[in-house]
Amino acid sequence: MSDREKANHRTNPLAGRSRYWFMLVLCSGLFSALTLGFADDQVPWMISRQVAEGLSSARMKAAPEKKTVPAKTSKAEVPEASWKYLVIHHSGTSRGNVQSIHQEHRQRRDADGNRWLGIAYHFVIGNGEGMADGAVEATFRWSEQIHGAHAGNSLVNARGIGICLIGDFEKQPPTKAQLRSVAELVQELAAKHQIPRSGLIGHSSVRATACPGRLFPLERIRKLIPEG
Ligand SMILES: [Zn+2]
Repeated sequence: MSDREKANHRTNPLAGRSRYWFMLVLCSGLFSALTLGFADDQVPWMISRQVAEGLSSARMKAAPEKKTVPAKTSKAEVPEASWKYLVIHHSGTSRGNVQSIHQEHRQRRDADGNRWLGIAYHFVIGNGEGMADGAVEATFRWSEQIHGAHAGNSLVNARGIGICLIGDFEKQPPTKAQLRSVAELVQELAAKHQIPRSGLIGHSSVRATACPGRLFPLERIRKLIPEG
């Protein structure tokens, strides 16, 4: 072996410290795969106990497979996790869940032609059709504390926590369980991030849309939050 070959041998990427890091990455990958597998088998958590958990450690059920979106759109343009708004949406569909919305939103592109990272919202609240009635599930955007893509307004996307209730509230109102869950969720989030009542808005406040639907009692929910 020549001196050069010996030098190459010493810098083998799987030698010494590099091998340690390789094993660490491999193990954490396996651990993540196991965790995701278990999460898929679990019933989406109900709000009282589980939202509290979700707020600090959301599961990554809807994590995008890979992020190829340019840096410009992959991060909020303001400091992350500096939440100022709570933005209420309906799905506009009779049924759905995090995964179904994630699949659909992954097909969309922004104004610059970049593919969306995946589900646009931070939280989804089920209506019993595709997801348990009143169940609250956090998405990867919450666990990673990154911007949403739900508002059609860059400031509100960057600083707004997007909450989507499954249903078409132009046609029928949210279920009682959904209303209990959204009430509890917005109160917790508002308290935690010092968001005043004026920060709770419907999608239609920032964009010409029927969302979250005329049958969603926005004022009633807003009054649950202190004026600030
Ligand atoms: Zn909306």
